[in-house]
Amino acid sequence: MRIIRDPGRLNRLLKGVSRSGKSIGFVPTLGALHPGHLSLIKQAGQDNDLVVVSIFVNPAQFGPQEDLNKYPRPLKNDLALCRKHKVDLVFLPDQKIMYPEGFSTLVNVEGLSRLLCGVSRPGHFRGVTTVVAKLLNIVSPDVLYLGQKDAQQAIIIARMIKDLNFPVKVKVMPTVREKDGLAISSRNEYLGGQEKKDALVLSRALNLAKVLIKEGVKDTVRIISRLKQLINKNKNVKIDYIAIVDSTNLKPLKRVGGNCLVALSVYIGKTRLIDNVIVK
Ligand code: AMP
Repeated sequence: MRIIRDPGRLNRLLKGVSRSGKSIGFVPTLGALHPGHLSLIKQAGQDNDLVVVSIFVNPAQFGPQEDLNKYPRPLKNDLALCRKHKVDLVFLPDQKIMYPEGFSTLVNVEGLSRLLCGVSRPGHFRGVTTVVAKLLNIVSPDVLYLGQKDAQQAIIIARMIKDLNFPVKVKVMPTVREKDGLAISSRNEYLGGQEKKDALVLSRALNLAKVLIKEGVKDTVRIISRLKQLINKNKNVKIDYIAIVDSTNLKPLKRVGGNCLVALSVYIGKTRLIDNVIVK
């Protein structure tokens, strides 16, 4: 496994790989790798000749009051996990090389970036699309692997790829969960013992939505109100949003139909967690 910090060097190396007819699978991450990331890496390995993982805590996607400084950075462990899972190349740039002095270009997917998580995290998705556009130019992968856990992020990146003609396929992998249902996230590390129990309310609420929809409830206002009731029973949990939207364009749905995305975000103490499910 090679670790490369310089974008130019990685780009030259990977151009050679592509020219030789080999396919490249790419998994961009913020590091603090966990089974969710590893499922993407495994799939990339199954589908491609070469797997590239980037580890970069991208400052552009963190708001001024957010957790950039305390975001976990267990680099040694991350590299060991990459080695174990047969990653070929790790791209490990630093902030200066990604955002040198004078950096002034931002990529923003209008509209979609302002909905759902975009309300409480203004500028977040612009930071994500800017860095992913840069990474796609550096790596030129055949397939980009993303997680359903960050459904809105995957929808926005797919939109950017289409709009800007990036020649890359997108594969969205299912959310990996703990046995108890909690979606695995690097931010779960922030949770104390009781908070981890409180966090189960996310998957419970999504399960309730699935049950209601299966029972034939179609009115989204009614479903959302039942979810609110369930979540509000726990005083340690504060709802950021609950949304039932079209899973392709994030438009709010009045009635359940087609492919709909039930997405929610809550605060457990100071930690903001998200989860979602697609109901067909
Ligand atoms: P992050 O390091 O949080 O930016 O995540 C990197 C990639 O891993 C993103 O595409 C995420 O959606 C994906 N991911 C994170 N957590 C999970 C999970 N529990 N299951 C599946 N994919 C995940």
